[in-house]
Amino acid sequence: MEKMNFVIVGYGGMGGYHARELIGENDYVQTYGVYDIKEERREQARKDGFQTYDTLNDVLADDDVEAILIATPNNSHHEIAIKSLRAGKHVVCEKPVTMSVAELDDILAVAETTQRQFMVHQNRRWDNDFLIVREWYQQQMLGEVFQIESRVHGANGIPGDWRHLKEYGGGMLLDWGVHLLDQLLFLVDQPIKRVYSDLSYVLGDEVDDGFTAWLTFGNGVKAHVEVGTSNFVKLPRWYVKGYSGTGQINDWDLSGKIIVPNETTERVAPTPIKAGQGLTKTMAPPSEEMTKELPILEVEADFPEFYRNFYEVVHQNATPVVKNDEVRQVLVLIDAIFESAMTGKIIEMN
Ligand code: NAD
Repeated sequence: MEKMNFVIVGYGGMGGYHARELIGENDYVQTYGVYDIKEERREQARKDGFQTYDTLNDVLADDDVEAILIATPNNSHHEIAIKSLRAGKHVVCEKPVTMSVAELDDILAVAETTQRQFMVHQNRRWDNDFLIVREWYQQQMLGEVFQIESRVHGANGIPGDWRHLKEYGGGMLLDWGVHLLDQLLFLVDQPIKRVYSDLSYVLGDEVDDGFTAWLTFGNGVKAHVEVGTSNFVKLPRWYVKGYSGTGQINDWDLSGKIIVPNETTERVAPTPIKAGQGLTKTMAPPSEEMTKELPILEVEADFPEFYRNFYEVVHQNATPVVKNDEVRQVLVLIDAIFESAMTGKIIEMN
């Protein structure tokens, strides 16, 4: 089998990671070359052992290049994707795919006309913490799930340069927000009915440095999504409630627990505890016999699936693991989150 030749466009943090590890270590694709707008990054790519191109046109004119991976700042994805598709290349694009739904629609129209494949790198669908929550949800390990809280908290502010600027598609909603929203839509697999949100600007940037969004899905599941960059104490990565259990995953180290009622024990009234300056039965912990703790599960992510699938989409007409209409739904949701934060209103989705 001949590997698919990829050229990486944008050799920064993520481009380098694709070149060396994601594409670099995959059996179906290979890093054929690199193009970056900056000579210093091209020089770095050569030091890392890759051939480089001086212009995007040189890449697109090379018939040995079958596909492009776009890992440039967010505002440039649209133009590079369209040029690449028109030149007959298949394209994998970093998230967020574009700055607007209209830009994505432009790209998809060109992909349709040129009959080239376009797929977005929603890699966090393969995160182990997410795969565990997906198992809880699908196997009803907590009973039917009705509330999901998904958070990422950091205390380092917004990293890098362009992520602080609106023009480049900076801000955390377009950064981590895209991952968390994509995961939730993929998990619940229902249309969103209602959105309410608030963006945070504690760092004083022109773009949001975090946000909170409250979502209601068509099946009634409610989600609370939160990204923060000035959180010196983190809240858990996942907190999930079902009608017969609660699950928590603390962090990417996959520590956490599931607590479910112990069905073999008869229910006894809780003993009141002293809490602060009062007594409470309501908030007293359940007796040890009344509940049991389960391990959170172990999963093994098949991440090479992403590029293997892309190869099979191009060469064997396989179904994409990341579908463009799923990616489009995330952009529609992001628009609603921006609108709710700006107007202070709940957005009803059609
Ligand atoms: P970065 O700033 O580290 O790298 C961007 C590179 O693109 C730079 O080397 C820059 O010189 C180059 N560049 C800029 N404009 C260009 C152009 N027109 N043509 C060619 N090269 C150009 O940024 P990054 O952190 O690597 O992010 C790049 C993309 O990857 C963004 O869309 C980001 O959202 C995405 N990303 C995804 C993940 C993920 O987990 N999927 C993680 C990080 C970043």
